[in-house]
Amino acid sequence: MSSALYLHGPNDARVAPFNLREGRPNEVLLRIGAVGLCGSDLHYYKDGGIGAACIVSPFVPGHEFGGWLEADVPELGLREGALVAVDPNGACGHCPQCRAGHANLCPNVEFIGAPPFDGAMTGRLWVPKRQVIPLPDGFTPLDAVMLEPLGVAIHAVDLAKPRLLERVAVLGCGPIGLLILQVLRVAGAGDILAIDPQPHRRDMALRLGATQAGADVAEIAGWTEGLGAPLVVEATNSPNGFRDAVQAASIGGRVVLVGIPDGDSYTLPASAARRRALGVKFSRRMGEVYPRAIALVAAGRVDVTSMVSHRSSLEDGPAAFAAHAADEPGRLKTIIYPRENNV
Ligand SMILES: [Zn+2]
Ligand SMILES: [Zn+2]
Repeated sequence: MSSALYLHGPNDARVAPFNLREGRPNEVLLRIGAVGLCGSDLHYYKDGGIGAACIVSPFVPGHEFGGWLEADVPELGLREGALVAVDPNGACGHCPQCRAGHANLCPNVEFIGAPPFDGAMTGRLWVPKRQVIPLPDGFTPLDAVMLEPLGVAIHAVDLAKPRLLERVAVLGCGPIGLLILQVLRVAGAGDILAIDPQPHRRDMALRLGATQAGADVAEIAGWTEGLGAPLVVEATNSPNGFRDAVQAASIGGRVVLVGIPDGDSYTLPASAARRRALGVKFSRRMGEVYPRAIALVAAGRVDVTSMVSHRSSLEDGPAAFAAHAADEPGRLKTIIYPRENNV
């Protein structure tokens, strides 16, 4: 029997035996190669839930993952043993949002790795065949994992619509912020002004293409002749993320909010936002992004590897959650390699 990492509630992650359920005809069994520890997994760990989505019984997180097929999937031209990624978003396909092409907003979604649907922090998992993403030759399990957060970044930049050589402030240089800043550069943005309180994250932002990196949002004014940035993309986990994004923005600017705030609420002075007449968008998961995410990784136009700071076994997974929750210096992205598949 294989094991899984379960989240039981706030600050309670445990590794225990995992009973693989029966598969369904529309599913294929996947041997998990690698799985990412995401900021949203961390919210479940720290808060026991995200808003109304609470842990009511122990569940297995992990929605960023890749692995090897345990059977052929002829519909996709894939053979047993092929390395694939999986789109975790199992939308219903028939609600108004799905019919309008916004599967990321489906209220009936079965999202792999969000309670009550078990995710990939385990050895093997049944996944719907229609959510399997074939990969080009040469992709690694790590590449497969990173397609999901890269997709989140692509969706955010799709919403942000940077203009050619436009100055953009990126608040938060965790994995999502670091992917966003790289995609912004591919999309033709100009100077990238990155803000993060942690020095190792600022260093990584500069390495991956930020023009400036500072610890506090107040620095944006100094870099922009007091004007602020015409476009701000926020990817923090802070309840002050929205407030800081407003402060970073120029009059008439646009703000895209990607981060999930600790505690599930924002506070900001209304006048600061109102007087700037800001355009604000909330980014939710992602649209049709996998072909572009694969193309960016295959061409080496986005670096998805440098930000991986830690690699962990499943057994050490709970310690990795605790380290991220404590903002341990040097932590950026942890990838978990389930033990029986260690590669
Ligand atoms: Zn994620
Ligand atoms: Zn739907």
